[in-house]
Amino acid sequence: MISKKRLTPGANVKINGYTLQVVKAGDMGVEVTSVEYLDEPEHCTACERELNPERIVWFEMNARTFEVWEENKGTPPAWAGTEDSQGCFPYGPCCARKVRKAGRAIFA
Ligand SMILES: [Zn+2]
Repeated sequence: MISKKRLTPGANVKINGYTLQVVKAGDMGVEVTSVEYLDEPEHCTACERELNPERIVWFEMNARTFEVWEENKGTPPAWAGTEDSQGCFPYGPCCARKVRKAGRAIFA
């Protein structure tokens, strides 16, 4: 049961692992944002903490060497976007610093 206090417009409410944003709440029920907002939040690849969507740092990872390229930083390496790429992985700001220092992906 979610307390009424938390159902103010703009508030995030967690239900069954989904984060919903309240648009409107009244006696007749609660209106939440559209399906695009129903995605589960991203978790840090290194520490598995839930990430603030505005502070996620994405690293593209080389599938063979685990080398990383920080999205939109500098010139992409030759393997970025090729079949050698394992795709992009989300990190929180603290763990992103560790990844930059290590020069490779860090996993939980
Ligand atoms: Zn982390």
